[in-house]
Amino acid sequence: MNITVQKYGGTSVADIERIKDVARRVIRSKKPDQGLVVVVSAMEGTTDDLIRRAEEITPVPSEREMDQLISTGEQISAALLTMAIQYAGFPAVSLTGIQVGILTDDSHTKARIFKIDPRKIFELLDQDTIVVVAGFQGINLKKDVTTLGRGGSDTTAVALAAVLKAEVCEIYTDVAGVYTADPRIVPGAFKLDRISYDEMLELASLGAKVIQNRAVEFAKKFHVTLHVRSSFIEDEGTFVTEEVDTMSMEQVVIRGVTLTLDEAKLTITLVPDTPGIAAHIFKSIAQANINVDMIIQNVSEKGFTDVSFTVPRPELVKTKNLLENISGEIRAGKVTVEEKIAKVSIVGVGMKSHPGVAAIMFEALAEEGINIMMISTSEIKISCVVRAKDGERAVRALHQAFDLDRKQSK
Ligand code: ADP
Ligand code: ASP
Ligand code: MG
Repeated sequence: MNITVQKYGGTSVADIERIKDVARRVIRSKKPDQGLVVVVSAMEGTTDDLIRRAEEITPVPSEREMDQLISTGEQISAALLTMAIQYAGFPAVSLTGIQVGILTDDSHTKARIFKIDPRKIFELLDQDTIVVVAGFQGINLKKDVTTLGRGGSDTTAVALAAVLKAEVCEIYTDVAGVYTADPRIVPGAFKLDRISYDEMLELASLGAKVIQNRAVEFAKKFHVTLHVRSSFIEDEGTFVTEEVDTMSMEQVVIRGVTLTLDEAKLTITLVPDTPGIAAHIFKSIAQANINVDMIIQNVSEKGFTDVSFTVPRPELVKTKNLLENISGEIRAGKVTVEEKIAKVSIVGVGMKSHPGVAAIMFEALAEEGINIMMISTSEIKISCVVRAKDGERAVRALHQAFDLDRKQSK
């Protein structure tokens, strides 16, 4: 049996009318002898709303309870969509991540899937039933509910496509595909027909939230073809696949520009500049399961230095509390926090073979009078931290500096 997995994001199931539209689209696409599995996100705004409510109670909610809470959004949309499909006369069943048996590790709010038991889904598909799965959620070995990080329904869909050996995993969203930059920020952004897993992984990791980075990781590992497309129109979107034509890929120096406002910067001052201190700081942070992104250490003055780094914004309070304890232990100075930061990045495999890309980036930002606070580079990306209010302007300047609305090869 050919199997297709479709995933509908929050805007696609934003209200009852949209849910009915999705039901019609699902039914239209259902072919005889084809197994159809539909993964849904929570209705638009639901997850944010639930998080806000928790924060009204406590600034540091228990992560287990947070998962109990935020996993409910997807259960609602899955049940409503299933009712709409049934009402149109088609057999359908909704399942939670727990009922499917999506086993994850213990990292609440950002759990990783390590096993899925596909038997229940196969049984239903054999009866020609459309299976609707609540995205974003799983269960750990202690039988506690876990969630997969913001945007995690994408990962549910791709992981299911991998275990079910689906022909394609379609990610339905509110834009027509993957663009050279967020089309809401750069109106002239160019829609890509195809992109390689590696470039998509970088774009997604650096803020192009059109698909969650872990979903791309899964797709690459298990060779799942992704098709990112709009749930509002019928046109084809962007295929995310293996790199085929390396030559033409490398001719395009920069594939896209991204922005993320989801990080915050912490600085610990007057850190004794002696061996082992950085290891002590970052080991304690790693033990608390906090992902550090960029790090800079200033030049040492009179045996002391300042160390700054960025973390995901939801981890800020936890990291600050931890860092204040560490500061006491190592006899360092105060801990300061900067929340209003943005990270802009340029991504492209072609960067490997083209010198001078960083210089163009820094020049474009300088011409806009945008100050760079931190820089990090890898083979296929360069990121700069700037003030939050400069973020969107920086994206537009970089998109133009690299001629992205014109230079894309198809
Ligand atoms: P969904 O609710 O369908 O999961 P998301 O809001 O998570 O949708 O992701 C879609 C959004 O991603 C778009 O509305 C767009 O603003 C944003 N986006 C950011 N970067 C890009 C990009 N490079 N290409 C397309 N969309 C992007
Ligand atoms: N509802 C979750 C979120 O808003 C998961 C998802 O939409 O993919 O992040
Ligand atoms: Mg999303």
